[in-house]
Amino acid sequence: MQRGFYIGRFQPYHKGHHSVVESIAADVDELVVAIGSADVSHTVRNPFTGGERHVMLTKALETVAIPTYVVPLEDIDRNAVWVSHVESLCPPFDVAYSNNPLVVQLFHEAGVEVKNPPLVNRDEYRGTDIRRQMIDGEDWTPPVPDAVETVVDRVNGVERLQRLAADDADISSQD
Ligand code: NAP
Repeated sequence: MQRGFYIGRFQPYHKGHHSVVESIAADVDELVVAIGSADVSHTVRNPFTGGERHVMLTKALETVAIPTYVVPLEDIDRNAVWVSHVESLCPPFDVAYSNNPLVVQLFHEAGVEVKNPPLVNRDEYRGTDIRRQMIDGEDWTPPVPDAVETVVDRVNGVERLQRLAADDADISSQD
C-alpha cells in the first residue's frame, strides 16, 4: 500500500490541481492532500480560509478514484523542522509530490522520496489569474470544479476579494 502526499495553497483549488491529483491517484493507493498556509486568509494572494478550502477540496475530491485525506497545515517559522511538522499532522505517507523547490529540498533532506507531478494546461489554470478575474468581475468559473464555485458563492468570496483588492492596487507581483 503506497500513500502519497500533495500540498498546495489552493487559492482556489482549480482544474489544474485536480488533474495533478488524478495523475497521482494513478500512481498510489491513497493520497494525503494538504492545504498549505491554512492559517492565512483574507489577503489578495490568500483570500480563502483553511476551512473554506477544506470544503472546496473535500467536495471536489469526491470523484477521485482512491481514498483521499484533506489536512490543513499552518505555516511555521522554521523551515528546518517543517517536514516533522507535516509528518506530525498527516497520515503517514511514502512519497511526496511537489514542484515547489523549497518543499522538494526539505523533503529531500529529510529522506522522503519526492516526485515532480506534471501540471497540465498551466496556461489555462492559474490561481493568480482566477483571483484577478474575480477582482475584475470577469467569468472566473470555467477553470474551477463546480464544488469550488459553490463554496466561493456561499461565502461571497468574489465580493471579499474585490474589497481586499481595493486596498491593494497592484497584485501583478503576487502569485
Ligand atoms: P503554492 O504557494 O501553493 O504555489 C506556488 C506556485 O506554484 C503557484 O504559482 C502555483 O500555482 C504553482 N503550482 C502549484 N502546483 C503546481 C504544480 N503541480 N506544478 C507547477 N506549479 C504549481 O506552493 P505549493 O508548493 O503549491 O504549496 C506549498 C505550501 O507549503 C505553501 O502553503 C507553503 O507556505 C507551505 N510551506 C510552508 C513551510 C513552512 O511553514 N516553513 C515550508 C515549506 C512550504 P497556483 O496558484 O495555480 O496553485
